[in-house]
Amino acid sequence: MPRPRLAVPPRPAQRRGLWALPALLSLLFVLGVIVWAQRNDADERDELRKTMISDALSLEAQLRARVDTEALQLRVLADQLRTAAPSALATRPEVAAGLRRLWLSVTWLDANNRIVAHVPEQIQPPVVGRFGVEDDPGQSAHLVAALGQSPSAGSLVVRYSPAMLLKRGVPWWLARKYDVRLVDGFDFVIASTGDNALRAAGESYQLAFGPIHDGYLQLSLREAPQAWYRALPVVLIGGFLVLIGAATALLRRQVHQVSRAEAAWRVETAWRSAMEDSALVGLRARDAAGRLLYVNRNFCELVGYAPDALLGQAPPMPYWPPEAIDEAMQRTRRNLAGEAPREGYETRWRHRDGHALDVMVFESPLVDAQGAQIGWMGSIVDISHSKRLAERERRQNETLAHHARLTMLGEVASTLAHELNQPLTAIASYSAGIANSIRKQAAPDPVLLSALERLGQQAAHAGRIVQRIREFLTRREPQHEACDLNRVVSEAVDLLRREHQRLGVQLTLELDPLLPQVIADAVLIEQVIINLVRNAGDALSAQAGERRIEVSTAPAAGPAARFVRVDVSDNGPGLDGRSIEALCAPFYSTKSEGMGMGLAICRSIIDAHHGAFDVAQAPGGGARFSFSLPLDASTSQEHGS
Ligand code: ADP
Repeated sequence: MPRPRLAVPPRPAQRRGLWALPALLSLLFVLGVIVWAQRNDADERDELRKTMISDALSLEAQLRARVDTEALQLRVLADQLRTAAPSALATRPEVAAGLRRLWLSVTWLDANNRIVAHVPEQIQPPVVGRFGVEDDPGQSAHLVAALGQSPSAGSLVVRYSPAMLLKRGVPWWLARKYDVRLVDGFDFVIASTGDNALRAAGESYQLAFGPIHDGYLQLSLREAPQAWYRALPVVLIGGFLVLIGAATALLRRQVHQVSRAEAAWRVETAWRSAMEDSALVGLRARDAAGRLLYVNRNFCELVGYAPDALLGQAPPMPYWPPEAIDEAMQRTRRNLAGEAPREGYETRWRHRDGHALDVMVFESPLVDAQGAQIGWMGSIVDISHSKRLAERERRQNETLAHHARLTMLGEVASTLAHELNQPLTAIASYSAGIANSIRKQAAPDPVLLSALERLGQQAAHAGRIVQRIREFLTRREPQHEACDLNRVVSEAVDLLRREHQRLGVQLTLELDPLLPQVIADAVLIEQVIINLVRNAGDALSAQAGERRIEVSTAPAAGPAARFVRVDVSDNGPGLDGRSIEALCAPFYSTKSEGMGMGLAICRSIIDAHHGAFDVAQAPGGGARFSFSLPLDASTSQEHGS
């Protein structure tokens, strides 16, 4: 049978580590951002380097072009001065123009490299550059132009300032971006656009610069001072990580709390379902309209329907007997109106397979978490079995009582016949005697004679009637057959067990498992045992405190070894000195409603079995009635009674 549906929650172990997942994902995200930023940075550097190379190439070309222009100017001047006197040097406008541009000085050397003329004659005064900064000529470089084809012609040497070359030749935007230097073959910086306000970063590029022998042009990237907002991403990521850390801690606490609550709830659910499933009581919950909301397993087993067939069902219910639907409807209306009897009510249902079912139903209000009543909870106990048992017990008791009555009547009749036989015989013989003596008289009175005759006849008739009744009532001959005395004892005691339970009497059996079978009438022996146990119960009924009856079987000891015995002992008031004869006398009873025939019957039954019936004081103080039965029914009555 399928179980009623219950929501099965996911196991907490599956989710125990889940609280760390958001933190892990966030860390991955941050890691991704960092990697992305680094790659971006590398790309940017790459790009910067490419730009730097192309900037360097174009700057070198520009500077070279400038120097080439200056060389060309010098060449032109040298051509013009080829035939002139050295004094003409100072007057040449080209010289003045050159000095305004880049030239520091112009020197005329003869073939032996002796100075013939030199312009300017003193050290040139400092000039103001176009950036408004003082131009410092610093290191210098030279341009040479021969004055003629012949080796004796001499030459013109122009000294110019590479620093000025840089200041004038490097565009401003390039100068902001790079620190541009001219370095000679000894790694000595000849000129630089270096500026203390801006610091050069490591990234640099250099390429050969033809106009200076072995020299090269070096571009170093300047690092602009970091704007405050450039640090913002780092701060944001840091803050983000701190927040994630805090959120994770909170989440972890929350998950643990939820897990604990869930574990408690799980335990409770397990308890509840274990209780519901192990309960022998059927449980059903109904809403206010009588619709089934919940049924437990036992309820389903009781009525034979699966939970799915029952849940949601409104009256009439499938387990109501079709012939009693109206009655069941009425009862349901009464119950839903809250008028179900508190002590429960009995009703009859029908199992799905058709068999009838006696149940006891207890209704109680079904209350939700807010305390509002939402329906009714019913507990159902199957009482079919106990009803059947009670019915069987009733029938058994009836049969028993019937047997007992018959036996008793037989005994009464036999006693009466025995007691009446003598007086009736006496009446008959006295009347015969009187009739004889009247007949001997001279004039016998015929009326008197016939009356006496009729008297004798009536007395004999009465005797026969009593005899016939006795024969009729004791006609049942004992059915001697092999029987297990232990079984007879336990069956007899079982019949009385409930009755004695009600009286609070503790009934124990001490049966010898090796007891041999006896030849006896089981029904009669059962009656003897029932009689003795009942008497013991009656004797105990007035007694306060512990009430005990013990029934035992055993082989009879000593010379009576061919007998088995049964003892019924109690811890009641005892015999008070009364003998077995007194107790077994017909119609002797100390009970207000007693007939006084029980023990008499017991004794005559045991006598009929050639057994012995006796009573003694029990070791505990009460009475112990015993009887023994021969193993072989033919055994004589030598085992005296
Ligand atoms: P009844 O039970 O109708 O009185 P019985 O013949 O069965 O007739 O019993 C006769 C009497 O023997 C009882 O009234 C009672 O006084 C006495 N008697 C029987 N059994 C016991 C016993 N176990 N303990 C004490 N007295 C007993």
